[in-house]
Amino acid sequence: MAPLDEYQRKRDFALTPEPAGGLPVPAEEHGADRLSFVIHKHAARSLHYDLRLELDGVLLSWAVPKGPSLDPAEKRLALHVEDHPLEYGSFEGTIPAGEYGAGTVIVWDRGTWKPFADAHEGLGEGALKFELEGEKLHGGYALIRLKPRPGEKRDNWLLIKERDDHARPHSAYDVLEERPESVASGRTIEQVAAER
Ligand code: MN
Repeated sequence: MAPLDEYQRKRDFALTPEPAGGLPVPAEEHGADRLSFVIHKHAARSLHYDLRLELDGVLLSWAVPKGPSLDPAEKRLALHVEDHPLEYGSFEGTIPAGEYGAGTVIVWDRGTWKPFADAHEGLGEGALKFELEGEKLHGGYALIRLKPRPGEKRDNWLLIKERDDHARPHSAYDVLEERPESVASGRTIEQVAAER
């Protein structure tokens, strides 16, 4: 299956404002010397956050129902979903009712990421540790794959904050509550939704 096939198959680009995306865009070609990441806040059927890490010219993607946490004790379920095109990183808007992922999307955080070791090996082994340099999130995180139950098709991971200077263990501070706005436009998801 070609990269981005699943992404393109799930969407009707005549109806959704999301980018169709073409072929993967190697990092050399877009001129960045660091890999990008983005976290979308997505008010779909249920509100969730989509973590997207650039690798091999696409955005590897995980849907995180409860969103990221700064507390290393919080293990947040992260459902591995289809790769998204690199252009998706700047997408903000509303996917119309009836379309795949219908609902409003904002760019909740963005920046660069760096695997602590070989990213392909980490993904293969089900333990990817990395550093985020975002506008809201900083420092180490880990994605750890859960063992699938027999017959289970879903590819479930946990997103966990590493213990470092950017962690806030046992804190009442909730970055999702304190910083709800888009880092691209400053708007909340409710404001973007209301602009239709
Ligand atoms: Mn989503």
